[in-house]
Amino acid sequence: MSADLPGKRPALALLAAVTAGTPRHLADEAACRFDPELHTGPDAFADEPADERAAREQVAREVCAGCPVWASCLFSALDMRPASGIWAGLTPEELREMAAPVSPDAVRGVA
Ligand code: SF4
Repeated sequence: MSADLPGKRPALALLAAVTAGTPRHLADEAACRFDPELHTGPDAFADEPADERAAREQVAREVCAGCPVWASCLFSALDMRPASGIWAGLTPEELREMAAPVSPDAVRGVA
């Protein structure tokens, strides 16, 4: 693997290239600015039934899909590693999987 890839995270290197020169602070353009709770869920201490949560997160993912700052949001989320919510259409678990190092065997299709 190339020593040029930061922390063995090719997704971050790719996103850095894609978003180079893009202002990181684009909250004014974020599609979720009208209803942030759609992405975060209700009060953290309130119970949210699983079916309601799944439906809410699906709508949040659809909002993200049309967001003009999606790439910058994904880059920031991969960097911040949020513990909850939907970020750039992904859950924290999905973000962790995306940022996980890739083994050389997996790249070669051996693993
Ligand atoms: S991609 Fe989704 S979470 Fe990120 S700013 Fe846009 S709407 Fe908000």
